[in-house]
Amino acid sequence: MVAVSFRCGHGASAGDDGVVALRRVCPLCMLLDETHRSRAELLGRVAPPQRAALARETRVGATYDWRCARGHDRYAATVREVLTGPGCPKCAVNAAGPSSVREAGVAFMNPGLRVRTSQTEQRLRMLLGERIRLHHGVNAVRIARTFFGRQEVWPDILIPQLRIAVEYDDPGRSRRAHKGLKEASDLEKDEALREVGWEVVRIRAGGLGELGQHSVVCNALTPAVVDEVVACMRRIRGDDAVDALVTGRPAAS
Ligand SMILES: [Zn+2]
Ligand SMILES: [Zn+2]
Repeated sequence: MVAVSFRCGHGASAGDDGVVALRRVCPLCMLLDETHRSRAELLGRVAPPQRAALARETRVGATYDWRCARGHDRYAATVREVLTGPGCPKCAVNAAGPSSVREAGVAFMNPGLRVRTSQTEQRLRMLLGERIRLHHGVNAVRIARTFFGRQEVWPDILIPQLRIAVEYDDPGRSRRAHKGLKEASDLEKDEALREVGWEVVRIRAGGLGELGQHSVVCNALTPAVVDEVVACMRRIRGDDAVDALVTGRPAAS
């Protein structure tokens, strides 16, 4: 087996004899990035005796013991499962219980949420805000299952009046983001939203193909793309529902 070192500093020591230096980050760092998590967050969840090993880990398929934030028993799972799956099995069962189902589908503000502020997302928010009234006080939706160990998901943009979430996907600088594991994770997130009455419109830019039921495939984010997103909302929820949110002059019919 060839020893490799990754750009993130994980793997074998670069410069050692026989070590192949790769210019990309390790698979675990890549998945952390794609799921908008940090390694520190992951280290806070693993059983303490395994922390040192996880700090150096490069494989998403490696199994560790994890602690539940709500104090349930530790559970074994791969890094991939922890980052993209339901997390603690007991929490997953509770999430499907009656008290949780009552709150399912409710949009709310999670003030502790790490905010992504890519320029494209800001532009999308601005272009969308020119067309329909956006609710700025919410960033999360309560779901009826667990996703990444939590009973909530955080789409890019939420329109609670329509129960529609808008996601912006592009391959990013790595050219690999939003492919493979990320697609599986995105689809699971969409499914969790659909289960509680939401629909997801995905803008798929920069060569990404359709994903999910409502995709707007484009080269880059333009006003015409955002018009298409609004047209998609009309197909999902009907003109009346969308017209009620239209800002400024009514759209020409
Ligand atoms: Zn790494
Ligand atoms: Zn739990």
